Amino acid sequence: MYNPKSMKAEEFIDHDEVLRTLEYAEKNKNNFELINKILDKARPIRDGKQVHCCGLTHEEASVLLECDDKMILNKIYNLAEEIKEAFYGDRIVIFAPLYLSNYCVNGCIYCPYHNQNKHIPRKKLTQEEVKAEVIALQDMGHKRLAIESGEDPINNPIEYILECIKTIYSIKHKNGAIRRVNVNIAATTVENYRKLKEAGIGTYILFQETYHKESYEKLHPTGPKHNYAYHTEAMDRAMEGGIDDVGLGVLFGLERYKYEFAALLMHAEHLEAVHGVGPHTISVPRVKKADDIDPTAFDNGIDDETFAKIVALTRIAVPYTGIIISTRETETVREKLLKLGVSQVSGASRTSVGGYTQEERPKDTEQFDVSDQRTLDEVVKWLMEQGHIPSFCTACYREGRTGDRFMSLCKTGQIQNCCHPNALITLKEFLMDYASAETKSVGEKLIAKEINNVPNEKVREILKNNLKEIEMGNRDFRF
Ligand code: SF4
Ligand code: SF4
Repeated sequence: MYNPKSMKAEEFIDHDEVLRTLEYAEKNKNNFELINKILDKARPIRDGKQVHCCGLTHEEASVLLECDDKMILNKIYNLAEEIKEAFYGDRIVIFAPLYLSNYCVNGCIYCPYHNQNKHIPRKKLTQEEVKAEVIALQDMGHKRLAIESGEDPINNPIEYILECIKTIYSIKHKNGAIRRVNVNIAATTVENYRKLKEAGIGTYILFQETYHKESYEKLHPTGPKHNYAYHTEAMDRAMEGGIDDVGLGVLFGLERYKYEFAALLMHAEHLEAVHGVGPHTISVPRVKKADDIDPTAFDNGIDDETFAKIVALTRIAVPYTGIIISTRETETVREKLLKLGVSQVSGASRTSVGGYTQEERPKDTEQFDVSDQRTLDEVVKWLMEQGHIPSFCTACYREGRTGDRFMSLCKTGQIQNCCHPNALITLKEFLMDYASAETKSVGEKLIAKEINNVPNEKVREILKNNLKEIEMGNRDFRF
């Protein structure tokens, strides 16, 4: 029985409710009166300096997803752009994944780290190697990492993850520093989530892979991840352990995308109903080629157009949730999606264990093929040329703006007063310390122009001072 407030996975992601939603969407896909009403409801409303958006329910968003009318599709794209602009402006936050270990006891059939894969080299970084990887990442200009690890209680216990986090935060190489570590590790206990919180992590990210229980169990035939309920209820345990910011995601291609989309929004509604805070981020990966993995073996692959529609509707349905896109996607796909609602991208990623310290991109332990292989400098320059402001900001969790405190600032649009100047400060640091001459020239012009777009005079003056301080060699200013 569907109940968004239930703590049981099969009740807040109720299979029958998903099917009922899809049936309702199919029935109403040409009900233009209803569709236009839904679009109107989702529009940002300005009230003085504040802006509000009420988002959409899983049922409403599913109707829009089902509709394939060209005019409606254009309206969806325009509305997604409008919401993106209202809450995120032109900023795009940049991060990099750091793979710690590919030892894994699970049998996920879409991932080359599954434990039946006997020919892939297994590797786990020592603390010295973590240090070397972090220095390499700092030397590119990264400030925000997402650490990744397989599930293996013997090789990668929670103590190992905690030790790595401590090492990462301790390294200050030249002007470099990793200021936010997000964590993408297997579902675990409340006690372990509490330890991660104490270690100072940013967001806890866990991809659901698929919300369809039967498919989930087939795709995860062995290992602890086989337990659908334990995996799906992980975010509730993370929040119980004190982690305020959690990141959801599905791996598109495993199941029918309409099912996944409705269920993903139901998960977001559940978090809001129970904890009063929806997901901090949603990631939208698609199945990719990798060692012993052929994406065509999964028959639910989605084309670029459908993918763009999913991203746009996610932006409309959960306007306060960041959307993350990785280097799994090509430059062309990323370019389109940035406009439609994506707020975070990875740059210059290496998806192998120990990949950043190697000259050539190592292939042997890669989790998936990286489609966008540009350097961070190239990605930063490209973003600016596309009209975006690349941001290395990590201010919120360091200022205690997490969970409901963050959401209340976000829901009134006030967070922009921090995001925009912080983007310029962190971009300036990048230009001073890591950028090529060409990128620096594009960036300095952008900063000079953007200073004038800071509406509050006092903030503008502080920002100008901070930028001067950065030129004099000082670092780490934030609003
Ligand atoms: Fe292990 Fe994660 Fe890969 Fe599954 S997806 S095999 S849990 S690393
Ligand atoms: Fe993100 Fe907060 Fe920085 Fe804005 S100010 S970019 S919400 S960390």
